Amino acid sequence: MKRKTNNKVKYIFVTGGVLSSLGKGIAAASIGTLLECSGLKITLLKLDPYINVDPGTMNPLQHGEVFVTDDGAETDLDLGHYERFTKATMRRVNNVTAGKIYHNVIQKERRGEYLGSTVQVIPHITDEIKNHIREVGKDVDVVICEVGGTVGDIESLPFLEAIRQFRFDIKFKNVLYIHLTLVPYIKTSGELKTKPTQHSVQKMREIGIQPDILLCRTEKKLDSKLKNKIALFCNVEVDSVITAMDVKNIYEVPLSLEGEGLSDIIMSKLGVLVEKPNLDSWKRVVQGLSKPKLGEVDIAVVGKYVDLQDSYKSLTEALIHGGISNDVGVNIHWLDAETLDGDTDLSDLNRYNGILVPGGFGERGIEGKIRSIQFARENKVTFFGICLGMHCAVIEFARNVARLKKANSAEFASNTPDPVIDLLPNQSGKSDKGGTMRLGEYLCQLRKNSNAFEAYGKREVYERHRHRYEFNNRYRIQLEEAGLKFSGLSPNGNLVEIIELEDHPWFLAGQFHPEFKSSPMEPHPLFTAFISSACLSRNDVQTK
Ligand code: GLN
Repeated sequence: MKRKTNNKVKYIFVTGGVLSSLGKGIAAASIGTLLECSGLKITLLKLDPYINVDPGTMNPLQHGEVFVTDDGAETDLDLGHYERFTKATMRRVNNVTAGKIYHNVIQKERRGEYLGSTVQVIPHITDEIKNHIREVGKDVDVVICEVGGTVGDIESLPFLEAIRQFRFDIKFKNVLYIHLTLVPYIKTSGELKTKPTQHSVQKMREIGIQPDILLCRTEKKLDSKLKNKIALFCNVEVDSVITAMDVKNIYEVPLSLEGEGLSDIIMSKLGVLVEKPNLDSWKRVVQGLSKPKLGEVDIAVVGKYVDLQDSYKSLTEALIHGGISNDVGVNIHWLDAETLDGDTDLSDLNRYNGILVPGGFGERGIEGKIRSIQFARENKVTFFGICLGMHCAVIEFARNVARLKKANSAEFASNTPDPVIDLLPNQSGKSDKGGTMRLGEYLCQLRKNSNAFEAYGKREVYERHRHRYEFNNRYRIQLEEAGLKFSGLSPNGNLVEIIELEDHPWFLAGQFHPEFKSSPMEPHPLFTAFISSACLSRNDVQTK
């Protein structure tokens, strides 16, 4: 494969206009796909304008999922898209917030590093941002840097000013500005409207940034007349006005953008010589998703943040990936755990081919989750528990099989007589919520003759964690004797990582978050196995 001719790192900045939720993260990730499939080594960086140092302490209903990296950083959910769309591994450095930048600058000021000068947004904050962007660019051909927020927000100004300056710091040709806007279709007049795009680009130019490429999010294809109009008003070459069509499935986005010739335009503007991207495997994924050969399965997700599906972004995608590897479509049914507690009738759960209880924090909805797990265990419905889902499965088993009626997690009932889930002994003294979580990648060793081993096909696996509470070893023997199988443990055997049940088609729960390591090209083995078991149950039903 031919590579680019000079060895300067190239930077692509992706900004967003008009309104939020246009899919800037997926656009940035898809640009990553196109460049990577052309043979370039890329990485991505998300700049977030809020003051939190990281999103770890934010409510998922406001901010969406917290994505955890191998090195234990709690990051923005767009990093999940970056990892699913490319081979780049995200680390702590790949997400930086305004809070983090200000924190660093204030620390430096306290240490006296600014030598008596007045510390200001320009140059001190903007320098800190630019240093961070450069830091990420070590060892890659291209950095794709997404600026969070919408142009016109007060919050994102220092970031936009920093990326404006960036083009002057390194050669003009090494930087590209791509702006994502909306071209709405107005039904009553039957027209696509360009004014919001014009205004958004005006806003960019006011702060000194002339976009090089416009990605116009729209539900109808832009014809050449409309593209010419946008080009004229926005001062962009007409070929660089790209239709970013609404698509059925996010994995179509790279193909759709490439259909508009995006990679060629990027490469020629950056002066990079590479072959056209080879998107065959993406085409296969999209084809499989649009026409799964083996029908569909129905999966119930019993959770707490079901009103905002961004709270479970990686989980949703991992379930879809599990469908890809089994050639089935996955219908996800979001059930609010709070509606399943008390003595509500659960027989409706029989409609589903599998039940999944995801991760979460706090007491709300716990009893509903425990009851649905009991239903899955007793009615032999395929079950997958993740993190808090594993805690609930252990509690359910302890209460209803091992007859520890008051078993609970110390997270919800600090005075329970049987804390089957608890803080580790050396953690219990801490009152601070920060820094007490087990975060990031840990090794887990699997027991042969288990569903876990069968799924992964190897003895040692690395998985990502984000939790405070663990299985309480005081109950290991008692629960094992009652039939709970510990099929995954930490290398020293002290931490329970996976539990399973025998005499059940597939009942498995893990202390970690496998959804963070799944991608359409490499569906996670546990999601593949879960969906596969759900498919079998469907066949049972069909042959009855
Ligand atoms: N709330 C639980 C804990 O802190 C589980 C966390 C999770 O599901 N990620 O341990």
